[in-house]
Amino acid sequence: MQTSVIGYPRIGRDRELKFASEKYFKGEISEKELNDVADEIRKINYKKQLDRGITYIASNDFSFYDNVLDTAVIFNVIPKRYKELGLSALDTFFAMARGYQGDKGNVKALAMKKWFNTNYHYIVPEIEDDTEVKLTGTKAFDELVFAKENGVKAKTVITGPFTFLKLTRFTGEKVLGDYIDIFAEEYSKLVKELNDKGAEWIQFDEPYLVHDLSDDDKKIFKALYNKILGVKGSVKVLVQTYFGDIRDIYKEVTELDFDGIGLDFTEGRKSLDILKENGFPKGKLLFAGLVNGKNIWRNNYTKTLEKLNEIIKVVGDKDAVVLSTSCSLLHVPYTLDNETKLTDDYKKHFAFAEEKLGELADLSVLVDKAEGKILDDNASLFVSRVNSSDAAVQERVKNIKDSDYTRLPEFKEREKIQKEKFNLPLFPTTTIGSFPQTADVRKNRLEYRKGIISKDQYIEFNKKKIKECIDLQEEIGLDVLVHGEFERNDMVEYFGEHLAGYIFTEKAWVQSYGTRCVKPPIIWGDVSRKESITVEWSKYAKSCTDKEVKGMLTGPVTILNWSFPREDISLKESTLQIALAIRDEVLDLEANGIDIIQIDEAALREKLPLRRSDWYSEYLDWAIPAFRLVASGVKPDTQIHTHMCYSEFTDIIPAIDAMDADVITFEASRSDLLILDSLRENNFKTEVGPGVYDIHSPRVPSVDEIVNAVKKMREKIDDQKLWINPDCGLKTRGDVETKKSLINLVEAAKELRELA
Ligand code: GLN
Ligand code: ZN
Repeated sequence: MQTSVIGYPRIGRDRELKFASEKYFKGEISEKELNDVADEIRKINYKKQLDRGITYIASNDFSFYDNVLDTAVIFNVIPKRYKELGLSALDTFFAMARGYQGDKGNVKALAMKKWFNTNYHYIVPEIEDDTEVKLTGTKAFDELVFAKENGVKAKTVITGPFTFLKLTRFTGEKVLGDYIDIFAEEYSKLVKELNDKGAEWIQFDEPYLVHDLSDDDKKIFKALYNKILGVKGSVKVLVQTYFGDIRDIYKEVTELDFDGIGLDFTEGRKSLDILKENGFPKGKLLFAGLVNGKNIWRNNYTKTLEKLNEIIKVVGDKDAVVLSTSCSLLHVPYTLDNETKLTDDYKKHFAFAEEKLGELADLSVLVDKAEGKILDDNASLFVSRVNSSDAAVQERVKNIKDSDYTRLPEFKEREKIQKEKFNLPLFPTTTIGSFPQTADVRKNRLEYRKGIISKDQYIEFNKKKIKECIDLQEEIGLDVLVHGEFERNDMVEYFGEHLAGYIFTEKAWVQSYGTRCVKPPIIWGDVSRKESITVEWSKYAKSCTDKEVKGMLTGPVTILNWSFPREDISLKESTLQIALAIRDEVLDLEANGIDIIQIDEAALREKLPLRRSDWYSEYLDWAIPAFRLVASGVKPDTQIHTHMCYSEFTDIIPAIDAMDADVITFEASRSDLLILDSLRENNFKTEVGPGVYDIHSPRVPSVDEIVNAVKKMREKIDDQKLWINPDCGLKTRGDVETKKSLINLVEAAKELRELA
């Protein structure tokens, strides 16, 4: 059976591209040297895929930053302000990706957004009214040639026109509809030229099709492809979808003149049903996404073969089915070979990108003859896993009662009790948790980890930092203080390290955006709290002051969303286990005299399903209760805060209110404050701290600026419910700007109190 890989990671097995790019940005290496690193990565990627006999290997899946941005540049979708810098092609590309500040000018980067429901971020293309959409870039052609030179007859991969247009921002008068013809025309030119250059296959990535689609969307899709497919000559065209099923447009897609249709049978809940109901057209290839491109567990061959056989039955011809990854392998780490500390008991259960190539190869053989050692060995992986099961944890989850999800008394009464107890001024001031993670803070952690300093030394240093941090906040005059989070490298990994059921990798990096990678921990088994996690730090902080100190925790949904989740139990079950563990920590903090506790849900919005119709049933219906479970055990006069990183929750406000926190802080300084209108319309009960300044840049906001921001907020929010705080944690900032900014914030609060 033929096999296909939708795309391959490109940051390099040892993040070579990251390090080379960063050197290039600093002017330490030349463009040529950067290109050499890129060539080497592509060569290795091709070789790995060739060695495994992959039939359809992608080219043009490489990028110096992001594939959507590559596509924009290929079609000359380059806003004027970047062209006018007069930089080289590569530097113009980087200026769009990262902004430019130098002797040629000063421009900000294009916006960046999350790529569907992944933790990868793409650059949002911008079309201005006078943008001349035109096939000018040669990247797709160059990479085809490069692949050929390296022995690969590649399929050329590019963002499809529909997805591209749907993700683009139109900054002028013109709208998407005005660009259908021109994009159809320029994509047609691309197809013709690839055809002339001897390409055999083109893969148009159209993940946007897995959303709920309107009739208008369907019309646009058809208009684009009717034209484009009309010119293809002998080159074959694959429309590749992923991250879900295409229930709204399956019929239309099968009626168009595509030579291949790529469907996701892993995340696409309904893909198999759709196929069975509608059949599959003769004469086309079905690229069946059965090897999960998003998670790192070994494929269950028995189950996959079962599904594959059902698919073959519908298609009616084994040769018309191509075994594929479910999405680009960009979303998983390179290889298990890099992991030296995990024993084979653990490693044998995982497949990163390279190992997934092996799975495609295995399955392509097993489909003809489903027997033998490979299949047996694989089956044995799913019988049990060492150290993964904890009966007590399972029992505890089973015994959760409905009442455990409810905090009493209800909000209104708690609000009254807490106002009396804390006696905070109007517009209380606070921060989101972390203070600057300066070089000394990171050094302390690193030296402790490496055994260079003792545990006592490590603790002493952190205590010194906490004391300084508390003193600073008292001096500035903030009302609710924090300990500063100096012990944390990362808000998820830190908790993972103190929870049973978690394991960690050394080099399992996944690209998040550009040169930034993340190394998500793995939820291996049943999760419980091994020991108290934050209590000592918070207790110490509290001992340094008479003011309130907020305890600082990460919530269960965020911990889950930023980890590689299990596949043997549901996300809901896993999240409830984590919730119980964090609940233990909440109660421990409370018992140790911490009366205000913040439970961060920075990533709650992130995994909202792509289809609106799934929002509640597939996600919010368990995610919100999981949060409530964490907090519901505390006394009425313990105040629960939560924090979310984005203010993009306008459409799920009732769900956010249903978290039943006492206070929520969120990013708002860069938004147009429309969120506040929605809060009001929805009768939002929770007290709110919309961030009054942006912590993503070193800029110090003036007192006036903050006063004005809060004045606008006061128009929409009751004074009694309004808190004053920055947008997010301060860990990426420096000491100097942090102090100045917070002094201004407190000064602004004082002025505002006079006005009220
Ligand atoms: N408490 C965390 C901090 O202040 C929150 C981080 C986040 O929202 N991403 O750093
Ligand atoms: Zn945040």
